[in-house]
Amino acid sequence: MSVEYQRLSTDRFPDDVDVLPANSVFNGATMVDDVTDIADYVVIGSGAAGGTSAKVLSSAGYSVIIIEEGPWVRTRNFSEDVYPAMKTMFREMGTNMTMGRAAMPVMQGRCVGGSTTINSAIAWRVPGNVVDRWNTDFGLKGTITNKELEPHFDELDRTLIVQPVADKALGRNNSIFAEAALRLGIQAERIKRYDAGCKASASCLTGCRSGKKFSMNLTFIPQSLHRGARLYTSTRARKIKFRYGRANQVQAVFQAPGAPKLTVHARRGVVVAASAVQTPGILKRSGIKLDALGRHFQAHPGTSLPALFDHDISMQIGATQGFNSLHFVDSGHFKIETLSLPPELLAVRLPGVGPEFMKKLLNYRYASNWALVVRAEAEGQIRSLFGRDIVQYSPSTSDVAKMRHGLRIISEMMFVAGAKEVWPSVTGMPILKSLDDLHYWDDAPLDPRAYGTMISHLFGSARMGSDSRSSVVGLDFQVHGTRGLYVMDSSLFPTNIGVNPQHTIMAVAHLGTTRIVERPLPCM
Ligand SMILES: Cc1cc2nc3c(=O)[nH]c(=O)nc-3n(C[C@H](O)[C@H](O)[C@H](O)COP(=O)(O)OP(=O)(O)OC[C@H]3O[C@@H](n4cnc5c(N)ncnc54)[C@H](O)[C@@H]3O)c2cc1C
Ligand code: SF4
Repeated sequence: MSVEYQRLSTDRFPDDVDVLPANSVFNGATMVDDVTDIADYVVIGSGAAGGTSAKVLSSAGYSVIIIEEGPWVRTRNFSEDVYPAMKTMFREMGTNMTMGRAAMPVMQGRCVGGSTTINSAIAWRVPGNVVDRWNTDFGLKGTITNKELEPHFDELDRTLIVQPVADKALGRNNSIFAEAALRLGIQAERIKRYDAGCKASASCLTGCRSGKKFSMNLTFIPQSLHRGARLYTSTRARKIKFRYGRANQVQAVFQAPGAPKLTVHARRGVVVAASAVQTPGILKRSGIKLDALGRHFQAHPGTSLPALFDHDISMQIGATQGFNSLHFVDSGHFKIETLSLPPELLAVRLPGVGPEFMKKLLNYRYASNWALVVRAEAEGQIRSLFGRDIVQYSPSTSDVAKMRHGLRIISEMMFVAGAKEVWPSVTGMPILKSLDDLHYWDDAPLDPRAYGTMISHLFGSARMGSDSRSSVVGLDFQVHGTRGLYVMDSSLFPTNIGVNPQHTIMAVAHLGTTRIVERPLPCM
């Protein structure tokens, strides 16, 4: 456990204002005048990738400025109500929709800690065959290999306390998944998470009020500030400026009346870690004109399925996501996992209207909910429109077939676990009453519009490669044709990975930033 956390864990949280170094955090929402600042490195984004980069750079003794578009919502101020949490910590309250055949919400955090603050803290390592393919098919030439990643994963496991969900945090929504998988011979396991003693409140999506989820807002960001970094919150990085081909300045805007400006001089470099949706826009606004920029975007479209039991499930008790199965990752290209939802979000998944719908909602205690993420083959694009980053993306027919197959497996598991009814929110699908009804899935539509799907695992919009005609980021993590402009988030991944991405994003950022530290550019 980190020194900072150990010292504070009894009565303070690491993000409490009074335990952070004085003058280390500047709230852009209250700024009145323009500000100029200077540091060795500027990191854009404070999420999985940005938090990791800031920590590695500040630990190496460099001065670091972190620019984060969202506010810092402190652990003490986390709300258990979904609406205020989504309003303050989710980008566009979770209403940013994809453009394409099916409009799907793009779920992202927009706050200090980025999506890690509002995610379920699942820590999976990328499957080895995915990284092998990056090297054989996408020209990574040994830049990121399984062997190279291993010590970085090990370091993250140790510092962020990656461990399987404990017995006391399991809860019924998770344990019945385990029972069903065992009976059907489906390989499944407890989820490993960034876990400092989960209190089983099933409310990771609104931020952990107990401070037991080791997200960036509680770990690498405070740790970087203790090592001298400075953080501007509610501050949107607009573009990067260059001098003699070297990135040497970030121009940003405070989210305050009158939009005063922040100008930061970067003596050694700029690390862009704003996510696979926002990073391409920043690069485009900075004048990067590479063909692959914004293209080859990939995702893991996700959906979930509720069911009704005749005994108490009480999914509000337990780790939000406690059990999962990778059994079908290679054969079916999908992963299944438990997902406890609060009533407000479960409501979105329930079929029917009026009194029938209300009856289902009132049965919340008896409901379970399990989810599916598909390793989709489809590629999309990130486009910039009036300053917004638009995701143009649709799952292919074959991706929807994978989703349909996965939902059939989940339905079967639910009945084996004792469900009385399974409630698909898929156009044309009836409520399923027994195993005999599973055949309905065989005729379920292959149109993505028929499914309630969202995306939160995002990749590939500034992919890495050695050829500037087909990639954006070079093998030294610098954008082709520039110096000192680094990308560290999953935009650089050549493909999606089939499992929850945070751990791999952090390991790649840890590796990439360690390379910067080993071979720093001279000061400008
Ligand atoms: C609800 C939810 C649950 C999830 N659950 C899991 C899970 O359990 N395990 C897992 O592995 N993955 C999970 N994920 C995905 C995972 O959280 C993300 O893949 C990961 O956090 C992405 O890391 P990132 O650094 O690229 O982006 P983020 O963590 O999203 O951070 C990017 C940050 O950059 C900021 N930013 C963007 N543009 C600008 C700008 N112009 N100027 C300044 N700042 C900017 C954003 O506000 C944001 O804070 C989940 C995602 C969501 C939304
Ligand atoms: S489930 Fe555990 S980690 Fe998630 S919010 Fe509750 S106590 Fe925190």
